[in-house]
Amino acid sequence: MCAYAEYTGYGVHTTAMNCLFCSILDGAIPSTAIYSDELCYAFADIAPQAPIHVLVVPRKHIDSLSASTVEDTALLGHLLKITAEIARQQGLKNGYRTVLNTGADGGQTVAHLHVHLLGGRSLAWPPG
Ligand code: AMP
Ligand code: ZN
Repeated sequence: MCAYAEYTGYGVHTTAMNCLFCSILDGAIPSTAIYSDELCYAFADIAPQAPIHVLVVPRKHIDSLSASTVEDTALLGHLLKITAEIARQQGLKNGYRTVLNTGADGGQTVAHLHVHLLGGRSLAWPPG
């Protein structure tokens, strides 16, 4: 189970009991597994925005990137390194996009830090 998450300041308050991704990590909500280790879990996005759309989430509940602390530095690096490894395993040789939406203006809808991995098509820039 994830630990209780503190209020973080940008207006989202979650606990393991009401966090969607904590429920996925606990197995209470089904997901399509892509990768798993002791620190993180990766699964297919339920509403894919590209042919490959994977979410990489820490097993530790962190509300968002802005809620992360210096203690999370190695974990954040691990998430990015694993995302690159998944992209390689998925055969994304032409490149891909990694996205971390943070807070309301960043378009974050699930208050459990996650890295989006998008690939398999050419992606436009800038985003909307
Ligand atoms: P964000 O808007 O950056 O917080 O991203 C949340 C992502 O979670 C969205 O891309 C959703 O499609 C995805 N999502 C929501 N519910 C599920 C679910 N049950 N399984 C997999 N992905 C989900
Ligand atoms: Zn959570």
